[in-house]
Amino acid sequence: MATAIYPGSFDPITNGHIDIVRRAHKLFSKLYIAIVANPNKNSLFTADERVEITMAALAEEGIHGLEVISYHGLLIDCAKLHGADAIVRGLRANSDFEYEFQMALTNRDLASEFESVFFMTAKRYSFLSSSVVKEVCMYGGDISNFVPRSVEEALKSKFLHTNR
Ligand code: ADP
Repeated sequence: MATAIYPGSFDPITNGHIDIVRRAHKLFSKLYIAIVANPNKNSLFTADERVEITMAALAEEGIHGLEVISYHGLLIDCAKLHGADAIVRGLRANSDFEYEFQMALTNRDLASEFESVFFMTAKRYSFLSSSVVKEVCMYGGDISNFVPRSVEEALKSKFLHTNR
């Protein structure tokens, strides 16, 4: 059975990501969630915080048996290191498609041994993104339908301690 890696910012993980994780977990015997620690991206949470938040969210949702890691640099190097066969990504709108198409073709040029596998979003999560969740939370809106409780708490505490 194949091993897959699901890379992303996960800043923070949302119910949309979790839906993809559940579905990918059924197809692949081993699944890694790989959190990119890219210093060029202006993320709200540090890579270590995102790993911690993601692990807590998965435990809260009763999802076990997968690994959460963080990586620097090229995704394909991380995929090689962990013996992955496939790269999992989620697709929402047209705008996702263009970016994902470009990344999948680039990754195939760099390393043809990895297959990119795309999961279509669930209808109810099709407009859900980490950015929307952060914005709604920052202005005091209700995000309980968008993220697990532990993620909501991490966000509230972060906004309490920053000037964002
Ligand atoms: P990145 O910065 O690499 O796009 P994200 O954490 O925003 O990282 O997303 C990681 C992956 O999860 C991407 O493939 C993205 O399209 C997918 N994704 C994010 N939110 C959803 C959602 N609500 N439904 C389906 N896929 C999603």
